Amino acid sequence: MSSMPLLAELLALLLGCGLVGIGLVVRGERQVIYWGLGQVALTWSQLFTDVRVAGFRVGLVAFGVVASYQGTRLFLGKSQSFKAWMFVLATLLLLLVSFWGGAGRLTALSGWALSGLWLWMGAQLAIHKSRYRCVGGFLVVRGGISLLLVLPFPAVVNQGLRSIYPVVELFSLLSMMYAVLAEMQDRYLQTIGSLSHGLAICDELGQLHLLNEQAAHLLGYESAASLQGHRVMRLFPHTTPQRILAYLQRVMQQRDQQQGPWVDEVEVMRFDGTLLPVELIASVYRERGQLYALIQVIDIRERRLALDRLRRAARMDALTGLLNRHALLEAMDHIVQHALQKGQEVGVLYIDLERFHHFNDALGHSGGDQLLSEVAHRLCQLVKPDDVLARVDGDEFVLVMPGCDSGEALARIQEASAKVQQLFDLPFEIHSFSVRIRPSLGACICPLQAMDKETLLQQASLALYAAKDQKLREVCLFDQDMDVRNRYNLLLEEQMALALQRQEMHLVYQPIMDVDAHRFEKVEALLRWDNQELGRVDPDKFIPLAERHGMILPLGNFVVKQACQQLAAWRGTPMEHVKIAINISAWQLYDVHFMAHTLGCLQTYGVVAHQLELELTERVLIDDTPQTETLLTILRDLGFGLSVDDFGTGYSAMSYLTRFPLTTLKIDRAFVRDVATNERSRMLASAIIALGRSLGMMVIAEGVEKLSQQHELQHLGCNLMQGYYFARPMLAEALMDSVMHDRLRL
Ligand code: C2E
Ligand code: CA
Ligand code: CA
Repeated sequence: MSSMPLLAELLALLLGCGLVGIGLVVRGERQVIYWGLGQVALTWSQLFTDVRVAGFRVGLVAFGVVASYQGTRLFLGKSQSFKAWMFVLATLLLLLVSFWGGAGRLTALSGWALSGLWLWMGAQLAIHKSRYRCVGGFLVVRGGISLLLVLPFPAVVNQGLRSIYPVVELFSLLSMMYAVLAEMQDRYLQTIGSLSHGLAICDELGQLHLLNEQAAHLLGYESAASLQGHRVMRLFPHTTPQRILAYLQRVMQQRDQQQGPWVDEVEVMRFDGTLLPVELIASVYRERGQLYALIQVIDIRERRLALDRLRRAARMDALTGLLNRHALLEAMDHIVQHALQKGQEVGVLYIDLERFHHFNDALGHSGGDQLLSEVAHRLCQLVKPDDVLARVDGDEFVLVMPGCDSGEALARIQEASAKVQQLFDLPFEIHSFSVRIRPSLGACICPLQAMDKETLLQQASLALYAAKDQKLREVCLFDQDMDVRNRYNLLLEEQMALALQRQEMHLVYQPIMDVDAHRFEKVEALLRWDNQELGRVDPDKFIPLAERHGMILPLGNFVVKQACQQLAAWRGTPMEHVKIAINISAWQLYDVHFMAHTLGCLQTYGVVAHQLELELTERVLIDDTPQTETLLTILRDLGFGLSVDDFGTGYSAMSYLTRFPLTTLKIDRAFVRDVATNERSRMLASAIIALGRSLGMMVIAEGVEKLSQQHELQHLGCNLMQGYYFARPMLAEALMDSVMHDRLRL
């Protein structure tokens, strides 16, 4: 064999091996393996002309024929055939017979057999498999040449045919390899095309080698072809190419470090210039020595929307639509930082609703909710563009007012507070009830009083409690004393929790004199607390605290019980006819157990309701809930006296006086103090006395300390008085003693 055809045969041998290799690499490509093996065997057999190895050559041809035949069948989608083995047997027999005929006969016979095989395979592939039409053509030509070579043509022709043959053989193998690879790629494309999300393959330099239609569609391109070959950089207009390359390198490195796929969320630019949020899941593979990143592109718009909704829900108070505490703190971070940088002030206004929980109980949960959302709705009216309004807790709202120039925050706080008060002037219409509720307001200023959000909120709330304690109508601004007071209050609270158990509380009684009759028929019970650590604590200090922390309920029950016990103890003594007035806080009045407990005490100690008078502050009666009237009517019907304590302390609404079945008015000591010296006080006291009398109520003047006051009040028509002038509040035994020994000023 001359060197040219030898080279061609060697090449053919290599291509055959290549086909086997492809078939082995891609699992399941058996047709390729068979066909490749067949080619290797047949080409190899061509290389032996020596008659001594004719047997081996025969074997190779037979194997080559069978493998090629089986491979072709598999290419055509048919299964392996048993018939092929018959064909082999026949070939072998034929070849063996010819073997005795010498090498020439063998060549001729194998030539016949092979040309038949090529022609058959070529025709089959060309007819049945469009992708293999070209291969089929080459095989038919190859078969044709083989056939001609066997026929007795002149040597020149033979020579010519012999030199074309290897070329055709090479082409048939190359086209087969091409067709096999193209088919494999097709299948591969079909697979990635069937994925529901986008998929792209790019190299280390960011060149897009392949992407599916879904990816193209996601990116707004008409087809995958229009993007293929471009670099991915065009999809990321807001990132530098260097960063993208760095990303790709990082992804590529994972192959060596065996890390899992890289998952990233990015925004890519679509064809129309809009940005699309996508998740990229990149993994790496190596092909022909080159690294490629296989990147899944997943549209995460829906996911982002859902996340946004979740995030918004996490920041929003569902009831009112305002920000919640968490979101407020987040916003304050930024606001405070900005103010500190710019040298500006921030006003923080804490707003809470007085006795909201009573309304909540009375209106039911849905009514309470409605009230809160209407309050929020009204408060929204005072929010300026940069302000932040949040509901931080049940009935607590916070308004943060940033961007105030130095010294301006106070004015803004005052302005906002006045506006808040105005917003509450009109009643709220809830479930056909007209609800009047008042806000309490506390405020502080950043950076004057604090520079961190937590402290600011805490200080504003301390100021709010101070406003409540002082029953302030206007806003209370935080001052450092409040902090000290707060610490003291914490200690008080701690001690108060143990006070009843440690028997540190007791009642004292202050007589309410009838100066005309020179006797008294009623005493006011006042609570006293002697703490082992703090000593005597003023009720003005601990009662508001107990009210705020719910401890007023056990304390109130204790007072009722003690008073009933005292009434029982006075039975059969000169004090038998004396009634006791007890102070009832709003919390008690609206507590579901209050009535039951009080009636229980009456029964236990054999006391009747009209021996007790309940002193209610004006505030309870003004900020009434739909329940108030019913409750008071029931109490009055049961026989309890009902008095208005501290009457006249700053409220103008007096309609409650006619609405509720009240028995007594107690003029606050502020009016009594100057009654003898100040004309205005005198006129006010006079008006109150006249008002009470015209309504058929008893009128008691509180805080009478001087004889001149007594005379003036008597002159104005008030004969019931209470004050140090007559007697200080004292223990029951001391009172009894004073009565027995006529030591009271009557
Ligand atoms: P209040 O109901 O107005 O009680 C009258 C207060 O005036 C008492 O102070 C009494 O000691 C004081 N007072 C009496 N006469 C005079 C006087 O001539 N001059 C002056 N300057 N003061 C006089 P107290 O006992 O310190 O009680 C303060 C407040 O604490 C009470 O005001 C009441 O609101 C509350 N409080 C006291 N005990 C109870 C209680 O058992 N339950 C509830 N809920 N509150 C109570
Ligand atoms: Ca009182
Ligand atoms: Ca009073």
